[in-house]
This record gives sequence, C-alpha cells and structure tokens, in this order.
Amino acid sequence: MEAIFAGGCFWCLQSEFDKVEGVLSTEVGYTGGSVEAPTYEAVCSGKTGHAEAMRVMYDPKRVSYGDLLALFWINIEPNRDDGQFHDRGSQYRPIIFYSNEEQKREAERVVKSEPNKVALSPAGPFFAAEEEHQKYYKKNPEHYSAYHGARLNRERERVMREEGTERPFKNAYWDCKEQGVYRCAGCGQKLFLSEDKFDSGTGWPSFTSVVGEVGYNGEEVHCKRCKGHLGHVFDDGPPPTGKRYCINSIAIHFFK
Ligand SMILES: [Zn+2]
Repeated sequence: MEAIFAGGCFWCLQSEFDKVEGVLSTEVGYTGGSVEAPTYEAVCSGKTGHAEAMRVMYDPKRVSYGDLLALFWINIEPNRDDGQFHDRGSQYRPIIFYSNEEQKREAERVVKSEPNKVALSPAGPFFAAEEEHQKYYKKNPEHYSAYHGARLNRERERVMREEGTERPFKNAYWDCKEQGVYRCAGCGQKLFLSEDKFDSGTGWPSFTSVVGEVGYNGEEVHCKRCKGHLGHVFDDGPPPTGKRYCINSIAIHFFK
C-alpha cells in the first residue's frame, strides 16, 4: 500500500518514517503542483505549486494507515499552512494525499479531531526528488541533525528517550474526558482508549489497560515499536484489571 504526506521539509519526515516497522520503503519528492517533473530549485521558488512530500510503501498487516497518519500528525505543526518549523513558503504546507476512499475517511476523521490547517487532497502525480535529497539524514548526518533539531520537542525527548517524568496536573491529558484514542507520540500506534481512562487523582493520565504493543521493565512501561518510555504500571488500579497505567501526556497524542 501507498501513503503520501506533505509536512514541511521532506528530509525530516523521511527520517521519522524510516524507523517504523512495516514501512517497506520511503521516497521524497514533489506533488500537488502544476508542472511535470519539477526540480528542487523550481519547487523552492514556490512558483510550481508543488509541496515537498514523501511517499511511503507499507505493509498494512504490520502497520496501519491510522498509525502512519498519527505519526505524520505528531511530527508536523498542524495549525500552520504558511510553512513548517523554520521553513517558510507554500511548498512546506501540510497536506494528506489519500490514495483511496478508506484513506480519505480516516484522514477526514483525524483532520476533524482538532483545529488545524492541514489540507486533504486526492493523490496525484508524484515526482521523485533528486538523489541527493533521498535519505538526506543518512547522507549528511551532521547538517541534518542541526537542521532537524528545530523540529524536536525537547520535553518529549527528555521523557521518552531519557525516561523523564512530566509534572503532575501540568500536562495535556490528566483531566481529559473526551472520547477517543491515545496513540504513541513516537510511532503513532494506538495505545490506550478513553473508556479505559479513569481519574486516579495523581495528576497523570491513568488507564486500567493497554491496547497497543508495549514492553515492561519492572514497573516501567515502554512502546514496543519505537522503544519510547511511556510511564509506569502499578497494581493499585480499579476493576476490572486492578492495573493503573500511569502515563506521561507528552508520550501520547489524543485523537477523537
Ligand atoms: Zn511508539
């Protein structure tokens, strides 16, 4: 299966999606514009109408379109269409290019989930970018890392990669009572359901059970797919499981 996303600089999207199990290949390129086979320079001029984009080939048995959509969403600035992070220009506008009706339906649901300026469009001709832009993060790791730094959420890195803990009552979801799903902020997989959420009084989002693939290290809980630290699990939760998954808001993202 194919999925196409535009979300600012294509180098950065590619490095995130290449980490995902079930993603078979990724390619960066240009789409959504009016001329055939544009060059990087032409697209950067903003005059061709194209957006920098990434085409993902994936195995739907191993990773769902919903997971990819969530990963895309978490890695962009959904509320901007004049650019993304430190890049400005219409070629950096965020767009979900759907390839079939099912992708369209799922994309519409995500787009309705929160206020945003992400566009939806049927997939059109996709022109692969020049070879020097493919896997840029591998070809020019030093430049890439300095560039990509501006997109990183420092607090998320601290929590998910260094096993930090965010402050109770001062996080996004401790008090969230809306219906929806909570996905991993590192890889997009579905982890928790709103119906399993309860008020633990601790100031962190708490759940009685987990629906995604997670691993344990004693009480520590991490995402099995991206290895990101999520929080801890204790045996003092309410029925039916008696478990209390105490999770950092910044390690998850809520979708209605
Ligand atoms: Zn993950």
